[in-house]
Amino acid sequence: MNQTLESTILKNIQETRQAISDEAKKWQQQKEVALVAVSKKQPEERIDAALNAGHRVFGENRVQEAEERWQKRREQYPDLELHLIGPLQTNKVKQAVALFDVIETIDRPKLAKAIADELERTGEKRECYIQVNTGEEEQKSGVLPNEFPALLKLCQDELKLPITGVMCIPPQDEESSLHFALLKKMANENGLPNVSMGMSSDYIDAVALGATHVRVGTGIFGERE
Ligand SMILES: *Cc1c(COP(=O)(O)O)cnc(C)c1O
Repeated sequence: MNQTLESTILKNIQETRQAISDEAKKWQQQKEVALVAVSKKQPEERIDAALNAGHRVFGENRVQEAEERWQKRREQYPDLELHLIGPLQTNKVKQAVALFDVIETIDRPKLAKAIADELERTGEKRECYIQVNTGEEEQKSGVLPNEFPALLKLCQDELKLPITGVMCIPPQDEESSLHFALLKKMANENGLPNVSMGMSSDYIDAVALGATHVRVGTGIFGERE
C-alpha cells in the first residue's frame, strides 16, 4: 500500500466534504449534498485509496470501463453507490442497468424506453435523472430545455420510469452559475429532489445554488491518465 497516496486522497476527500458542508451551511441548504467521486480513467490504486478512506459513492462515464473496474469490487463493498454520468447508447442499457444504481444521463425517448423495458424485464429498481443540455450546445448530450417537459412526461406517465433528478454539464466557456440556477429551477418546478451539478472547478458554486450531488474527479484523485 502506498501511504503517501492513501493519505493524499483521504485528505482531498475530507477537504472537499468540508468545503461542501461549509458552503451548504452558508446558504442554509436543507438537503445534504452527496459527493460523487468521479473515478473515470484513474489508476486502480487511487480508487482503492478512496475506498480505504471510506468513500462509497462513485461516478463513471463509460459503461465498459466501469464494468471492468467495479464488477468485482461490488462484491467486496456491498454499500457502493455507482452513478453513470456519461452518455448511454441503447445497446449498452442492459449492462448499465446491471451495474449502476443511478443513471444520470437519460436524454431522449428511445433511451428512456430502453431503460424502462430493461427495468421491467429484470424487476430491478434504479434511480434515473434526466440530463439537460442547458447551454443548448450542438455536440453535447442532454435534452434541450424546451424539450424537457415532454421527455419528463413521457418517462413519468407512460414509461413509469422513476425520474428523481436532473443533471447538467455547463458549456466550458460560460459562467456555470447561470446553468446551475436554470437546472435548479427546472428541478423545483417539477418536484424533482435531486440536482447533479458542479465539477472540480465549480462545485462550490453548484452547492450555493442548490446541488444535491456534485461530481468531483481531479479534485479528489488528481489528473487523469
Ligand atoms: C469527468 C467528469 C466530471 C469530473 O470532472 P473533474 O473536472 O475531474 O472534477 C464530472 N462530471 C462529468 C459528467 C464528467 O464526465
